[in-house]
Amino acid sequence: MNASVDSSKLIRGALHDWEVVVGMEIHAQVTSRSKLFSGASTAFGGSPNDHVSLVDAAMPGMLPVINEECVAQAVRTGLGLKAHINHRSTFDRKNYFYPDLPQGYQISQYKSPIVGEGEVKVVVSAAETIAVGIERLHLEQDAGKSIHDLSPTDSFVDLNRSGVALMEIVSKPDMRSADQAKAYVTKLRTILRYLGTCDGDMEKGNLRADVNVSVRRPGDPLGTRCEIKNVNSIRFIGQAIETEARRQIAIIEDGGTIDQETRLFDPGRGETRSMRSKEEAHDYRYFPDPDLLPLEFDGAYVDALAAGLPELPDAKMARFIADYGLSPYDAGVLVAERETADFFEAVAKGRDGRRRDGKAAANWTINELFGRLNKDGLGIDESPVSADQLGAIVDLIGENVISGKIAKDLFEIVWSEGGDPRALVESRGLRQVTDTGAIEAAVDEIIRANPEKVEQAKAKPTLSGWFVGQVMKATGGKAAPAAVNALVKAKLGIE
Ligand code: MN
Repeated sequence: MNASVDSSKLIRGALHDWEVVVGMEIHAQVTSRSKLFSGASTAFGGSPNDHVSLVDAAMPGMLPVINEECVAQAVRTGLGLKAHINHRSTFDRKNYFYPDLPQGYQISQYKSPIVGEGEVKVVVSAAETIAVGIERLHLEQDAGKSIHDLSPTDSFVDLNRSGVALMEIVSKPDMRSADQAKAYVTKLRTILRYLGTCDGDMEKGNLRADVNVSVRRPGDPLGTRCEIKNVNSIRFIGQAIETEARRQIAIIEDGGTIDQETRLFDPGRGETRSMRSKEEAHDYRYFPDPDLLPLEFDGAYVDALAAGLPELPDAKMARFIADYGLSPYDAGVLVAERETADFFEAVAKGRDGRRRDGKAAANWTINELFGRLNKDGLGIDESPVSADQLGAIVDLIGENVISGKIAKDLFEIVWSEGGDPRALVESRGLRQVTDTGAIEAAVDEIIRANPEKVEQAKAKPTLSGWFVGQVMKATGGKAAPAAVNALVKAKLGIE
């Protein structure tokens, strides 16, 4: 058991080193136009109670009817998580007082979920890749929203969200650090967004995490866990885990024990605090919902959905490495969003299908374009530089028409003014000087004007860089750097 403990991940307490163990339950809102058991709209931002059917309002005698698109989305997600798809699953009532879910219970899946065990590969850093087990994925209803800040004496309820379909994706307790947990959620979100089964918008609450945290001495059995409810940003997930692990360690080292409970993370104060003592499953008195038949489908239904899946991030990453010679790191950055991967591929492939240098295309996409987009707070879909334009810049460097340095200036011109990069090189006179006669004249002139520097450089060859810089300056940065380097060294008589 100890063999699997990575000591670099241990948290140092006052007395001992501790291992943190993290498992997660992610609630992901299903992308669908209507709710899980009614035809009401799922559109975000309507007036309160605009999207509420009689079913959502739990009027007497109303019956839920399963939305087939939500079923398909759950199966697609299960396939994306390399998980077992259960051809028969059932819906259960989870009895609990939700003030904003008028039924008085949540329809969920308890004993037989639609998706069983799976696995997600997570690249945590350049040096660390882990596999996180998926325990299950089940479909359930979301609740509405209670509003307490419109009146000093009254509370209001908005049921627009009530009955919207959620996928609850439960991981195994396979994570051993805040970084692993953050990387897992990031990867899961990427997969959902590729699949188009959840938009992953954490700010709108469309993806939220319940984080189970416990600590133990390495090699010991699992400790008592606390669940930190509804954490809604990846950064907060990391902070909540670290804060909660330290709280538990302090209690245990002080001779105390951990109470299993549900806690809330307060990012403002950097602490977790108790919300309620944790219920056990039997407290909910789950029982099969008598209004709903078991959900059954056959293998052909699953196969048809599998055939329609897009290329997923792991497959795309492997292909980028194999086809374009990219490093795993660069490939990982590019496939994090489907749109950025598509953009890169349009640059690397060119519109006419002619291959460009994949590494150069990746460098320019990641370093120049993403860097510039970040600086201006723009998304890839708002990029002023198109894939064709960026591809043309990569071509111009490859053909030795411009140097890498001039290419950055050209990129800036295209970014702010637009235009055809190749035409701009001519109209702005950016073509690099490869005529050795012209470069030689510039080198001779610098050497003639700086006899004392020549002596210094002969004694200390690294100083030849100064001459290269001067020649570049004198030629407006247009001299071919390799030619300048060679000529400077030859003229100074150094290796
Ligand atoms: Mn749930």
